[in-house]
Amino acid sequence: MDPRNVRPGELETWAAGRGCDAGVARKLLSTVFQRGVLDPSRWMAESQIPRRLAEAVSPLPLPRLTLDASVVSPGDGFQKLRFRTSEGLALETVLIPLHKPGAVSLCLSSQVGCAMGCTFCATARMTSRRNLQAWEIIDQFLQAREIVRGQGRRVTGAVFMGMGEPFLNYDHVLTAADLLRCSSAGSIGAKAITISTVGLVPEIDRYTREGHRYRLAISLGAATDAKRRELVPVASRWPVAEVVAAARRFALARRCRVTLAYVCIAGVNVGEDDAQALGVLIGDTPVRVDLIEVTDPSGRYAPPTTAELQAFRDALTRHVGQPIVRRYSGGKDIQAACGTLAGVG
Ligand code: SF4
Repeated sequence: MDPRNVRPGELETWAAGRGCDAGVARKLLSTVFQRGVLDPSRWMAESQIPRRLAEAVSPLPLPRLTLDASVVSPGDGFQKLRFRTSEGLALETVLIPLHKPGAVSLCLSSQVGCAMGCTFCATARMTSRRNLQAWEIIDQFLQAREIVRGQGRRVTGAVFMGMGEPFLNYDHVLTAADLLRCSSAGSIGAKAITISTVGLVPEIDRYTREGHRYRLAISLGAATDAKRRELVPVASRWPVAEVVAAARRFALARRCRVTLAYVCIAGVNVGEDDAQALGVLIGDTPVRVDLIEVTDPSGRYAPPTTAELQAFRDALTRHVGQPIVRRYSGGKDIQAACGTLAGVG
């Protein structure tokens, strides 16, 4: 049992089975998460964790990801960490400086590679693919937070928008999110945690049903099925109207806006007709539309010019009538921008 691999409630049950109360389970979490002591042999001396609990932890020693590269963008201060799994697979985490001084949000990976095949995304072109364990997601957080703390800053948020489709790794991602949120562990507010999906309808509905308090972001790509299928192949399984209907169910159940991430590509999806189609599709579903300029190192897709993007934004304001935000996708010079994570650079 690795405390980074189970939800806080499961850890309490496990501890109770060994004669320890919930307070001891919480102390174990704070020892690991807040004091960063991952060696169970030190828990008894440093945190009075009962020996029987420390000795029941396995595997020993608790495994870690290997940090093998760290690069900071000279342009905008975004930082990318590349980790290796025990079998040498690469995964990446991005440290995003926020407007609030000293605050950093972490963009976490949920998989190595991604099977969704979005045509504008470098992660889709990686040949290695597998789900990450919850501890591998949490270890990105723990190691990144050490770096952030060393810089005199603090982690205030986390987004599951790195490598992979989080809802294809549903249980491990939600376990990690619960640990990030827990006040004895990551201590990040639920509203500062965002889980992103390319639009897996059954999992969006499961997420709604289970009542999670984290935010939801859906990568839309385009407002019509014909265009969306070109950019996001999984769209052939769920028509975009079904995706937005699932988003609506979430928004109404949680009484919040769903973020619709829209990757803007010159000559593909930023015309007046695209804005109009998006307006019809969204209707009165509570959303916020995040416009993200495509970054495609392969050269297949180009971002719109400033004038094209402004015209599209104006058209969206007319047709959608809900918050439209231009989201900065930073770290382009270090391959840390949205859609460029590929374990290289
Ligand atoms: S954009 Fe996201 S879902 Fe699509 S291939 Fe890339 S990582 Fe996967």
